[in-house]
Amino acid sequence: MSTSRRKFLKTAVAGCAVASLPLTAFKTLSPAEAKASIGNDKVRWVFLVDIQKCVGCGFCVKACKSENEIPYNVPVTRTWVERYVITKDGKSHIDTPHGGRDGYTDPTIREQDINPDDITKAFFLPKLCNQCQNPACVQVCPVGATYQTLDGVVLVDKKWCIGCGYCVMACPYGARFFHPVDKVADKCTFCYHRINKGLKSACVQACSFGARLMGNLKDPDDPVTHTIMTQRVGILKDEYGTKPQVYYIGLDERVR
Ligand code: SF4
Ligand code: SF4
Repeated sequence: MSTSRRKFLKTAVAGCAVASLPLTAFKTLSPAEAKASIGNDKVRWVFLVDIQKCVGCGFCVKACKSENEIPYNVPVTRTWVERYVITKDGKSHIDTPHGGRDGYTDPTIREQDINPDDITKAFFLPKLCNQCQNPACVQVCPVGATYQTLDGVVLVDKKWCIGCGYCVMACPYGARFFHPVDKVADKCTFCYHRINKGLKSACVQACSFGARLMGNLKDPDDPVTHTIMTQRVGILKDEYGTKPQVYYIGLDERVR
């Protein structure tokens, strides 16, 4: 086949392919997103929460707010701790005042006094962005301001975010919010700026009970990876197909 004919066919096939693509196949790349696509793929950051170890002190929430400059008294937070109290009638009573920042010293839940004799189970549940493998927030961002690094962390390019709020609505975990000062979308980044320097994320460092751990799922020798691969661990809202990468030890079936 002559070079000119091959060139013609190549162009024609490319033209047909483009014409048949749905509009959603096109994706706008932000500068940060483009840069992320040339990273390495030896690392997949994951998070492990051991519910049995969490005492609901809220130190992690405080540390996160301080590290990531989230205004202390504004009701938004990158990570939070929920309290679950299950009673004999099968009901789940859940609250998270100030994101659990101040710990749980008040026995009333949502202004309701619960008789201690009626409680069958109680626990604390730390939550944060799941750095999903299929992040709904990335899929809906019309300008590519929210993107996924090759080591699995979902980030927001603050300069590129137009504040449309699509990601806040799309996240099934309620992990996104508007930063009250920056006026753009915000969320947990696993403290990406710290873990890339070999430091622990602020919440992991603050938890002296070992309820929060981070690891590299692509490293078989990583103790967190070993736990995820060998123990019974759970994830939240599997039905959304987001493939969350925050794993829980001791996850109760009533958690939502
Ligand atoms: S610092 Fe640790 S023990 Fe305290 S609330 Fe956070 S996860 Fe739970
Ligand atoms: S938890 Fe929500 S904000 Fe985090 S990556 Fe998944 S969809 Fe996006």
